[in-house]
Amino acid sequence: MASSEIIAIGSELLLGETQDTNTAHILKKLREIGIDIYRTQIIGDNVQRIANAICESLSRVDVVITTGGLGPTIDDATREAVAAAFDTELNYSEELWQDILRFFNDREREPSENNKRQAYLPMSATPIHNAIGTAPAFYIEKDDKILIALPGVPIEMKYLVDDFVIEILREKFQSEETIAVRTLHTFGLGESVVDEAVSDFETWANPTLGLSAKEGITDLRMTAKGMSRIDALVKLDDLEHKIRSRLGKHIYGVDAETLPEVVNRVVRENNVLVTVHEYGTKGQIASHLGIDILKPSSTVNEAAFPDEKKFAEPALAPVDQIVLYVWVNCVEESLCKVQLTCATSKTSKQLTRFFNPNLFSEEYYVFIALETLRMAVLDEV
Ligand code: ATP
Ligand code: MG
Repeated sequence: MASSEIIAIGSELLLGETQDTNTAHILKKLREIGIDIYRTQIIGDNVQRIANAICESLSRVDVVITTGGLGPTIDDATREAVAAAFDTELNYSEELWQDILRFFNDREREPSENNKRQAYLPMSATPIHNAIGTAPAFYIEKDDKILIALPGVPIEMKYLVDDFVIEILREKFQSEETIAVRTLHTFGLGESVVDEAVSDFETWANPTLGLSAKEGITDLRMTAKGMSRIDALVKLDDLEHKIRSRLGKHIYGVDAETLPEVVNRVVRENNVLVTVHEYGTKGQIASHLGIDILKPSSTVNEAAFPDEKKFAEPALAPVDQIVLYVWVNCVEESLCKVQLTCATSKTSKQLTRFFNPNLFSEEYYVFIALETLRMAVLDEV
């Protein structure tokens, strides 16, 4: 499998002024055609630093893609840096200059003297015609390796990657090999608990398993390399099966599925009617649940919780119904308390959680309530 690195170029990226979205796009595209990605980096508009980065990347991998710094101004340093990295000169191309002139003519604009810079390419570079901008992209092949330089403007970069670069790479590194990714979502278990349950899989080389946690959600991201897409998917299926046998119903969703979506589906599919009594939540629990699964008497009350006994002596709910009491009470500026009772016809469960509202968004207590509801439906049926 061919390996690659991406270098995003631009001081604005290092200043945090512009988000490097180009790298993310290129990463996805490379993955689709089975090119492994070893590293990405951001370098400012500095010829020597860019040249060094290119040389180092080329010593490690087969494909190096740069984005940015191909514009007409002095600070657009990529052309010069590539020439330095390949120990060669910049070469004026009349053909490229005519292309640039045509681009301006078609738009009834005049090129500036600076634009002429864009007609220079490192010797032995092959231009990639950029129909939607003035900066020509280009590539250089050497010793079975390839460097591809793309503009920074996101729509130009995307157009060139999708329409040309992928084809160039597919042809050069023809392979059915591919990488497939699937993410399983859990809520409320805690990263360390999930980690303990699946830690042996995290040492696998293929497929790999990585965890990431945010606001109570712990994701399990599986990545498989395969000789074909089917092969990669079979590997993912196998690992998913093994993970599910350990975490079972704690996995609420896969890939783009969200907890609110899943809860609504589970409640509806099981014909359960939900009553929500919520306090201090701005009605957010009910608003995440569909009207058709909520009992009309579901109440939203911003006043203090009327009856603490509801938590002390919870009653059972009628069959096929679930009653949820949620009370969010911020006791200090940095400390909120979520109290929750969830009653089915069989059991009534209570839960208390604390969180810092400066670190967690409101979604956190909504998700606590929704996950409790999802588990209650699974227990009830
Ligand atoms: P040109 O100067 O011809 O527009 P260029 O290759 O020189 O093209 P840059 O000057 O580096 O591109 O960037 C042009 C625009 O694209 C800027 O607005 C910049 O913020 C944005 N941009 C550059 N790199 C990235 C990136 N990695 N991700 C997202 N946006 C980017
Ligand atoms: Mg720039």
